[in-house]
Amino acid sequence: MKLQDLNPPQRRAVQCIDRPCLVLAGAGSGKTRVIARKIAWLLEQGYRPGQVCALTFTNKAAREMQQRCRPPGRKGSGSGPRISTFHTLGLGILQREAGHLGYRRGFSIMDARDAETCLGQLAWREVADADNLRRARHRISRWKNDFIDPAAAAAAAEDDLDAAFARLYAEYQQQLQACNAMDFDDLIGLPVRLFRAETEVLHRWQNRIRYLLVDEYQDTSTSQYELIRLLCRAGNGLTVVGDDDQSIYAWRGARPENIRLLLDDFPDLEVIKLEQNYRSSGRILRAANHLIANNDHLFDKQLWSARGDGDPIRVMPCRNGDDEASRIAVDILARAMHEALPLRRIAILYRSNFQSRVYEKALRDHSIPYQVSGGQAFFERREIKDILAYLRLTVNPDDDPALLRIVNTPRREIGASTIRALAGYAAERHRSLGAALGEIGLRERLDRRAWLRLQTFAELIAELRIAAGQADAMTFCRELIAHLDYREWLDETSGSRKQAEAAYENLDELISWIGNLQASRDDTGLEATLSHLSLMSILDSQNAKQEQEAVQLMTLHASKGLEFAKVYLAGFEDDCLPHHHSRDAVAIAEERRLAYVGITRAESGLTLSYAKTRQRYGELQSCDPSRFLYELPEADLDGAEHTASRLSDDEREQRDLARFADLKALLGTAD
Ligand code: ATP
Ligand code: MG
Repeated sequence: MKLQDLNPPQRRAVQCIDRPCLVLAGAGSGKTRVIARKIAWLLEQGYRPGQVCALTFTNKAAREMQQRCRPPGRKGSGSGPRISTFHTLGLGILQREAGHLGYRRGFSIMDARDAETCLGQLAWREVADADNLRRARHRISRWKNDFIDPAAAAAAAEDDLDAAFARLYAEYQQQLQACNAMDFDDLIGLPVRLFRAETEVLHRWQNRIRYLLVDEYQDTSTSQYELIRLLCRAGNGLTVVGDDDQSIYAWRGARPENIRLLLDDFPDLEVIKLEQNYRSSGRILRAANHLIANNDHLFDKQLWSARGDGDPIRVMPCRNGDDEASRIAVDILARAMHEALPLRRIAILYRSNFQSRVYEKALRDHSIPYQVSGGQAFFERREIKDILAYLRLTVNPDDDPALLRIVNTPRREIGASTIRALAGYAAERHRSLGAALGEIGLRERLDRRAWLRLQTFAELIAELRIAAGQADAMTFCRELIAHLDYREWLDETSGSRKQAEAAYENLDELISWIGNLQASRDDTGLEATLSHLSLMSILDSQNAKQEQEAVQLMTLHASKGLEFAKVYLAGFEDDCLPHHHSRDAVAIAEERRLAYVGITRAESGLTLSYAKTRQRYGELQSCDPSRFLYELPEADLDGAEHTASRLSDDEREQRDLARFADLKALLGTAD
């Protein structure tokens, strides 16, 4: 194989196979290209496809990589290298090995919402409100990622709330076991635990995965790193690529320090730096370099571009949020027409999911097709959640969150008091709700009619289990919906005909998704298909279909690794980017990396837009341009009326104090 489309250091990285290899380089320097080419190179050197495993950060990235690596004309997943996310790899390991950890077949995977539901049931004594529940979930997730068990968490608790979280953590773990369920963190944590405890199992997987490649390495967590370390300890091949300046998941447990750990744990590590950026025009790259120079770095890097300076970066001050959105829409129309650009090469990026709505509306008003990605919209819909809950309960009758969701959907006259009695009984017996349904003791707690209704429900689930064993996943799902008269239920309960029809369409979409999923796997049964489906819904509910001809809308986090001809970085305002929760220097540095990621997605056009006023919490508030705007090289900016309006830190503080006083006055709490 010739490697002519790579520069010398890239080629060195591809050909380095007898030592572990770290490629440390800035945005757009061809790190992901190195991974894709190296997979092909390894196969040419005699590795079998199944022995090569590449890990990416999202399902979308995995799919793209798969397309780049699959020899033309071949279909199906069996024959190619393994290209997946960490979580899918963890799931694959657990599907074969979870028995060693005391799990039964058909275990459920809980997404964040399910985990919160589960915590909510346990937590009523300690942590009552939704905010605290979310905090508890994050705290527990961090503990799990750092391999701190409930006892250690309790011992190290910093205050009363922390101690309450630690107690909750212990109960939560017991509850997961009782439900034969795992959460997202377990998909990484449990394989690590297993590998540490069972050398034989570890050896089996070390033999299976002979070469591991990791993209976006800077965002690995402690437990992900441990999984890599264990798998590669026996001298298996390892290549990781990353950029510490693009580490943007610290809040989710990512540890850019893992880059340094590699140097300790793999003393013969070959470190390769790439310095040529192929993606962006000179001005965009200069702006990115300028911005990120304000952060401390683990490693120093230089990036240069052979492309010309290109157009200046446009700064677009707007009157308010609506004005911003419609100006972006009009601009997109003009550009797409003028430069004959396909719409999918244009992206609007923003800091937080909720921001998309105003841009969506403006694009709709101008009849511009768009696609929002990274959001959870599809899998958050009630009809999808309902049917998935049926599928989950069919596979795993101990899945309590699924049972609670559908025990009375469609309506079966099973009321809250019946469910409370069931839950109380199950808790006493240390059984799941599903298991408690079949116990004779339950009968004494309920009146006869309530008990009979629960029995009818239990029989339904038992019938579904039998039916699932006799059909493929897609057929089963279709028949389930018919059997439940679920469409009629939608008719009865939807606000309008239109809503009901939209829900029908979503169900059809779900069925065809399941069809697609099973088409790419050998095992078409419900159990195998469902675990992959739940993982997709957790990670990114991206449409697996071909990308449409549409403007791409996504958060900055979701844009990592992607590239677009034109990028609109919208809502480039203080309190928005940096996010208003980010107060201290560490948090601001992470927000700056996020801005760096956004800027470096652009190839030839970058627009930074901000609104001077915005409707927030039902009130019109004035906004300042992002402080990061003043860290960009002024000569490369166009439309920069912003310089004059910059507030000093003092002025900003004065203004915040005044706003706070207003708010207090409004609430009648002024002193
Ligand atoms: P990021 O940090 O944003 O993930 P990256 O380092 O992974 O970026 P790639 O996405 O691999 O960079 O490459 C950026 C762009 O440059 C891609 O369009 C890629 O095809 C192109 N590219 C990379 N290397 C070369 C090369 N040697 N010659 C020509 N084009 C290249
Ligand atoms: Mg990349």
